[in-house]
Amino acid sequence: MAQTRGNLFILSAPSGAGKSSLIGALLKKHSDMKVSVSHTTRSPRPGEENGVHYHFVSVEEFKALIEKNDFFEWAQVFDNYYGTSKQAIESQLEAGIDVFLDIDWQGAQQIRKLVDDVETIFILPPSKEELESRLNNRGQDSAEVIAGRMAKAQSETSHYNEYDYVVVNDDFDTALAEIETIVMAKRLSLQSQAVRHQALLENLLK
Ligand code: 5GP
Repeated sequence: MAQTRGNLFILSAPSGAGKSSLIGALLKKHSDMKVSVSHTTRSPRPGEENGVHYHFVSVEEFKALIEKNDFFEWAQVFDNYYGTSKQAIESQLEAGIDVFLDIDWQGAQQIRKLVDDVETIFILPPSKEELESRLNNRGQDSAEVIAGRMAKAQSETSHYNEYDYVVVNDDFDTALAEIETIVMAKRLSLQSQAVRHQALLENLLK
């Protein structure tokens, strides 16, 4: 079977919709899927590791990377900078790995302009009350930060209609299965299958 290029997916969601947990579960199940590790100027949260969850850099380092044109996309989210380096994704796609970008609507807008072949997924929480409770349950941020995030959640959610797919994360396993379905459908598209099964098709048609 011929090696096909990996597919690029963007997952966006308001903070607290459960996006990180869904991506974590997806990667655990599928060794041929990876998430791009972004650069950020925000401080690590407890349990976050440099190079695993993010590349944690200073504002000066981040600006130097912008100057060097190292970013595929970057944006200011809340009070910090976040960016996807070109290097983080290109080699994986080349190797046939499906790459997920866990980025906000600003990054998604930039990538849509650069790449035709990208599938974008927006994840919603099941209700505003549940979102607020999830943000409180995290116990990692102050009440002020949580109130700010509720406001930002609304602003992030206002971009849902720019995405190809919408998944509501009420039941975790259902949401996970829905994302897997989107990935599998993309893998089964004519464009991918024609490359993957080139030999079979040639044989059947000769
Ligand atoms: P957090 O600080 O909670 O990890 O992430 C805050 C927001 O920044 C999330 O919506 C996340 O998707 C977004 N984000 C993380 N990495 C990137 C990135 O590389 N580019 C962009 N545009 N947004 C990002």
